[in-house]
Amino acid sequence: MPPHFNLDKEDSKRLLLEAYNFGINFYDTAIHTEYGDSEIKIGHAFNKLRDRIVISSKARAYTKSDMEKAMLSSLKNLDTNYVDLYGIHQISPTNYETAMNPDYGAICALREAKAKGTIRSITVGTHHADIAAECSKFTDIDMVQLPYNPLEYGLYDSALTAGLDKNKVVFHKILGGGMLPALCSISSLLHFALKEKPVSALVGIGNFYQLSELRQAYEHTINNENTILLPHSECNRCQSCICTKGINISKLLRYRAYALSGFHRWALTGFTKCYTLKCDRCGDCLTTCPRSLNIPLLIEEAENWFHDLVNYKEVNK
Ligand code: SF4
Ligand code: SF4
Repeated sequence: MPPHFNLDKEDSKRLLLEAYNFGINFYDTAIHTEYGDSEIKIGHAFNKLRDRIVISSKARAYTKSDMEKAMLSSLKNLDTNYVDLYGIHQISPTNYETAMNPDYGAICALREAKAKGTIRSITVGTHHADIAAECSKFTDIDMVQLPYNPLEYGLYDSALTAGLDKNKVVFHKILGGGMLPALCSISSLLHFALKEKPVSALVGIGNFYQLSELRQAYEHTINNENTILLPHSECNRCQSCICTKGINISKLLRYRAYALSGFHRWALTGFTKCYTLKCDRCGDCLTTCPRSLNIPLLIEEAENWFHDLVNYKEVNK
């Protein structure tokens, strides 16, 4: 459950048990503080049902010692002595070499924990197509989490092209961090992801209404949904584009799409963090987009839009 839903401990327990009674037995979370207190709430809800459910958790820990600390902390939070799947969260080009180093990387800690039985399988989560493909080639990595929703489905196709083992993939961010149900039904989002069989999908549920929609989607409508057309979703985050100045184009355009879809505050924070190098409209990236998007124009639009948003906020303080 993303922290912005903020259910208290007892309501979370009721929601989780309702999900369990519906038949959901796989719960994916991430370490405490990074994902709010989700691990603690899962531990609280399921401490008497531990052997009936599968728990997957992860941490942004890239060295062996950081991963060892993270696993200990997760076990305590989850009130359990083993986690079914545990792994490296947000593995990326900047931390990949460290994380996968067989002597001092996070992967060593995970292998040792698996040998001891404190974790049963190793998982990774990434927003990078080539890294997803690389990680899937490790025989001891059992699950690779990749985002998949109408704003980010290109990542999966690019990862397949890079050699991703499809059998290890589990999609996440099906609801776009809980935001996309404001624009389209949960059923249509679920259908959008599951059309890529045999891939599995993790659906983040933040409240009772979303659980009930998920239930209806599963029981009645999953096979009958129309294609989703979201506004401002020209870019599918395939990551084929290259900026000669080093700008992360696909990330910027994702924040643009979220902002223009109405998620202003969240998108502004993300855009401000990742747009540290200014686009000079050189046009070098234009030939690299398979969808022939006018990337400099889209970035200029995003700059103007965010600029207006900041001014609006200043004036209306
Ligand atoms: S137009 Fe902008 S985004 Fe494209 S390569 Fe040039 S600086 Fe990078
Ligand atoms: S701008 Fe084009 S190449 Fe870049 S991520 Fe989006 S769709 Fe892919």
